[in-house]
Amino acid sequence: MGSLLEPDQRNQTGSSRDRADYCRQRLPELRLLERLIRKGSGLVRSRILAELPDGDHKLPLYALEFGTESPELPVLILCGGVHGIERIGTQLLLAELGSLVYRLPWDDSLQHTLERMRLILLPLINPVGMARGWRSNGNGVDLMRNAPLDADQPSPWPVCGHRLGNWLPWYRGKTQAPMQAEAQQLCTYIQAQTELAPFILSLDCHSGFGMRDRIWFPYAGRHQLMEHAAELQAMLRLFERAHPHHPYLFEPQYHHYCTHGDLWDHLYQQHLARSSAAFLPLTLEMGSWLWVRKNLSQITSYTGLFNPMVPHRQRRTLRRHHLLLDFLICAVSSWQNWLPDSTSRTRHMRYAERRWLKRERKGE
Ligand SMILES: [Zn+2]
Repeated sequence: MGSLLEPDQRNQTGSSRDRADYCRQRLPELRLLERLIRKGSGLVRSRILAELPDGDHKLPLYALEFGTESPELPVLILCGGVHGIERIGTQLLLAELGSLVYRLPWDDSLQHTLERMRLILLPLINPVGMARGWRSNGNGVDLMRNAPLDADQPSPWPVCGHRLGNWLPWYRGKTQAPMQAEAQQLCTYIQAQTELAPFILSLDCHSGFGMRDRIWFPYAGRHQLMEHAAELQAMLRLFERAHPHHPYLFEPQYHHYCTHGDLWDHLYQQHLARSSAAFLPLTLEMGSWLWVRKNLSQITSYTGLFNPMVPHRQRRTLRRHHLLLDFLICAVSSWQNWLPDSTSRTRHMRYAERRWLKRERKGE
């Protein structure tokens, strides 16, 4: 007896089964993301910014939006999975997405907060890289070295980005080539979403640097504090007073290394050229050496160098940053209550310079 399905339907069922198998084996994060989008139907607006090929599969780059659609209200952007090997950043944002989807239907205060701001999540920016267990994207390009910017004193080589070829990590792509699809779509989307916003905050979640959880901010490619260091200092003071036992170190990225092609430097520069609104682009670098130290066998695995491999440690990591994400949402929705005016801005800038330039003045 023949199948009851038409050939087209048979193919569709077969290919959707292939995709389900692919996701189960190689990209469970995408499976969970799509399940949460379905669960949040009516609460979250989702769109696909690009479809990225991996063999026979096309993997979506999703952007999710909660809250107001008004372009003139403030925006918080949460990103993860730029480096495919750093799965924990994506997993952290999926935990946040789940929390939002399950809280929004009943939580009056969250509903009210999101009427005054837009919350954007891009939890899986490099799905092909993540499916393959690579840092780079499917073309072997490091998306965080891919923007058209050169560092003033690049170091150390080759971590700072290079153009030798994609056989070596931290490859920037070819000279004069357009940005990779993931980077290009991310930039175009963020620029459109923030064009008229009076205040913008972003957090890009990474892992792998040192024993501490660090929050980095521009510049990555030049030895200079970002123009909105006063606004950042004002916000950090709120955070540090409200949560004095937090685990983070806040510092400009160039204190550690100076890289070509940083996407946030690029977005920040573009923003400064067209708007006077404050923009604070932050990067969370979860200190993965801590997980390695507690479980030395991880040192033999590439994934283990960037992600907690023991389930209870992964759960602890997902819990650990919830406070920060919650604070960022409050800081954006209440931005007018704390953003410094022209008088207090000078004072905050002095604090910022004392805090972050002291080390440089000492010549360390
Ligand atoms: Zn990274």
